[in-house]
Amino acid sequence: MKKIMFILPIIAIGASLVFSTYTIAAGDDFVTGRKIVIDAGHGGRDPGSTQCLGLEEADANLDLALRLKDKLEENGATVYLTREDDTYLTNSDRYTYANSTDGEVLISIHLNGSLDHDKNGTLGLYSKPRKDEEFASVLHGRLVSELDVPDLGVTNFMSGVTLRFNGPASIQESVYISNTQECVALLAGTRQDEIVQSLYNGLNDWFSVDREVFISPGQLK
Ligand SMILES: [Zn+2]
Repeated sequence: MKKIMFILPIIAIGASLVFSTYTIAAGDDFVTGRKIVIDAGHGGRDPGSTQCLGLEEADANLDLALRLKDKLEENGATVYLTREDDTYLTNSDRYTYANSTDGEVLISIHLNGSLDHDKNGTLGLYSKPRKDEEFASVLHGRLVSELDVPDLGVTNFMSGVTLRFNGPASIQESVYISNTQECVALLAGTRQDEIVQSLYNGLNDWFSVDREVFISPGQLK
């Protein structure tokens, strides 16, 4: 009997800890209280893909980044943008800024481009397998299931931005901006919120699970 008396309080404490971790107030979300860096790809003299006439990839990326920022902030997240306008940044500029924040993860927003205007699909990129691959896969999973485009997989890609960011980082090439239908929808402004919702859902999925995340020493501040 004495043993049982000792064990029960421990179970009770453990249960309350688990319970409190997953308690969500109405309107809250798993991104609430989290800190996220959003990197809009390209900018300034680097337009990215120019295969959608009238909409450069750099501008579309920034539009998506600003919409995603608003959505995350509405749900209680803190968001850091590597750029907020049509500015040219080097990869070093991007990761140096990102690592100066207390951002936990970094999502780099891109749209793919091809001279083949029929080509479409969603592609996730990661740099360091241990740091980035699971994060890239979780985000990619939502884009695949929700955007109704071919699954081009999750691939290793040594980008300076994701490589040098202290925490989990991924480039998501959500769709092909060069694809005729995507270009028309992006020019009309009807596709952006769908892409943003999927990116948001992916981030929400990531933070819905307690993860053993690889964090380099620079972030422990
Ligand atoms: Zn790009």
